[in-house]
Amino acid sequence: MKDNLLESLNTPQREAVELTEGPLIIVAGAGSGKTKVITHRIANIIRLHLAKPDNILALTFTNKAAREMKTRISSLLDSSEVKGLWIGTFHSNFAKLLRIHAKTIGYTQDFTIYDSDDVEKIIKVLLLEIGLTPKEIGTKAIQGRISFLKNKLISSQAFSQEAKNYLDDVVSKIFLKYEEKLFKNNAMDFDDLLVKPIELFKKEESILKQYQEKFKYLMVDEYQDTNYAQYMVIKMLSEKNKNICVVGDDSQSIYSWRGADIENILRFEKDYHDSKLIKLNQNYRCTKSILAAANSVISKNKNQIKKELTTENENGEKIIFSQLENEIIEGVRVAQIIRELKLKYGWKNSDFAVFYRTNYQSRSFEDGLRQNGIPYRIYGGVSFYKRKEIKDVTAYLRLITNFSDEESLSRIINYPPRGIGDVTLSKVILKAREENLQVFDILSKPASFGFSERASLAIKEFYDVFHYLVEISKKCSVVEVIEKLYEKTKWIEYLKREESVESNSKILNLEEFLSFATYFSKNKMQEDEVLSLQSFLQEVLLASDLEEADDENKVSLMTIHSAKGLEFPVVFVVGLEDGLFPLSVETHKELEEERRLFYVAITRAKKRLFLSMAKSRNKYGNFQQTLRSRFIGDLDMGVVCLENGLPLSELFYEEKERNRIVRNGTSTEEIKKPVWMESDFELRRLRKKIRGLNILPDSDAEKLSSVEIRIGMSVSHR
Ligand code: ATP
Ligand code: MG
Repeated sequence: MKDNLLESLNTPQREAVELTEGPLIIVAGAGSGKTKVITHRIANIIRLHLAKPDNILALTFTNKAAREMKTRISSLLDSSEVKGLWIGTFHSNFAKLLRIHAKTIGYTQDFTIYDSDDVEKIIKVLLLEIGLTPKEIGTKAIQGRISFLKNKLISSQAFSQEAKNYLDDVVSKIFLKYEEKLFKNNAMDFDDLLVKPIELFKKEESILKQYQEKFKYLMVDEYQDTNYAQYMVIKMLSEKNKNICVVGDDSQSIYSWRGADIENILRFEKDYHDSKLIKLNQNYRCTKSILAAANSVISKNKNQIKKELTTENENGEKIIFSQLENEIIEGVRVAQIIRELKLKYGWKNSDFAVFYRTNYQSRSFEDGLRQNGIPYRIYGGVSFYKRKEIKDVTAYLRLITNFSDEESLSRIINYPPRGIGDVTLSKVILKAREENLQVFDILSKPASFGFSERASLAIKEFYDVFHYLVEISKKCSVVEVIEKLYEKTKWIEYLKREESVESNSKILNLEEFLSFATYFSKNKMQEDEVLSLQSFLQEVLLASDLEEADDENKVSLMTIHSAKGLEFPVVFVVGLEDGLFPLSVETHKELEEERRLFYVAITRAKKRLFLSMAKSRNKYGNFQQTLRSRFIGDLDMGVVCLENGLPLSELFYEEKERNRIVRNGTSTEEIKKPVWMESDFELRRLRKKIRGLNILPDSDAEKLSSVEIRIGMSVSHR
């Protein structure tokens, strides 16, 4: 046992840690120690022998958060005391539980988990099946709708009774077929990982009872972002012991688009009559400046639970807002600042994080960092695991563990190419159905099922490779299986023959996957000795951010959504432009959610915060003018300055001044005063206006270029 774990807590935090029994809710602002309370609570429960680690279920939102929580607990206890804890995301914990009881709900233990790309493909095919094209009805829209319904625990059958209009009707048809298809493929999607446990508990009450007994203590971080399915499963599991502690912050609720329901916070006290509410008012993470900025932003939202959040930390440096020419320069500028700060203060790469609103923005920052030789890591989103070749390898591995997975089969039966066309594949599947056999029964002896000699040969080639891999997988490690997979399919040779830049990067990706598997196996070994192919695949799927080792010294790049719960000494929030951040929203409610997102982004920063925007952005090959984010106007002006040290108010003053000049018309003298130009584009516009107003003759208007023009925080100016 390490030092007294209550020592580092303030009074309300300590109260929350010591109150181990009964329902407890903590609602408090960012950085006030909610997650700390959870980790200390777990450590305290174990230390007092109130429960063994495997009697504690702790639910987090991201894998990174789960890992951090494990690390924090491990630092409080001896490693032997931590083993067996059920700490993880909802998805990973419940996938684990579902594997144990898969049979009860008609699955086998090695069911496949489909990610959103797999789901999208299936929906496309199903649309075609009912005579519609994905162009007529958006696949993504249907996918989103199905996911939303599932998270509201509305089944496909129930929805088919409800469907009222044409779109609902389509969704309902697809939903029914989709559920059948997944079941037949022995597969679940991400939402099923939340929905199926409920189905399981309802079907087999003894299993529910077993887990109600097992999980003596339940803890949920980021409770404001739980959806109905999550709420339900928590409620069911805590029914008996009622030792449930949830922590959250309504100001950080950012997942309503995925069905998260802030009401869950308010409902808690109704559901658990004897619940206790604890508030935490001190922020330990941010400097005073950063907290002031965060508070000023969130105070613009009307709908929120009143909270006082202060800090005793230092004032810290001012927050800097930069307006860069375009997103390329924005990317370069971030890299430059990182370089400067590293030199000046000895910060490490891993002390920096760049947050953007949407995934596609990552490119320019990747480029900027790469050019400056700064290693970085992208968390979540369209990461490594979404790349085609990685999905191909995992399709092979998935098929090895689950022969019924037709999606994976169709993905790789002819990749690398071996002459099996779509027609042959559909014939195989059809034959299997007709003869009531497994697809692999057909594949093993194609000739006897009437396939041509050429087709049979190709099929046989695939079958032999596959059969060999299945055999290998029974006795060899995951890493060896992957090595043999590359070797037997002659994959790398095939890519080398392609000799394109693209194929080179594909080879690198395949190699990286192998090193990831090696790294992952090594790490896992300490926990449960052998890494099965199946649990490896599960991790790959559930943990798109697993690729990084936390000890790696790299700059983190991620969307604000994936940054929830994390903290970094230096944070860049980029792309602060209207229409991007906030996204173009239609309702006030949506705008408030965007603002909460900004609040989340700001409050990740411990020491320094940099905000930036690109004044123009490349869209379909052209640079288009952008508008500054309205959120900049929400910031407490006293704690933000421009990159040249001028106060933020200067920006607004100069803009007003310029508008006045242009609107009223004025003397040449006045125009020769410094004019704040947003860009060349605006300069041209201004010239045109001046001509139109007849203030200056054309020739003089042209001379405007000689006027001292300060272009934002342009790098050329440094
Ligand atoms: P968020 O709302 O962003 O999830 P949180 O409320 O979960 O934040 P934590 O991440 O638990 O906050 O804590 C924020 C930081 O403050 C952490 O670095 C934590 O170690 C530190 N901290 C929390 N409480 C204390 C305390 N009593 N003394 C010193 N440091 C503390
Ligand atoms: Mg937290």
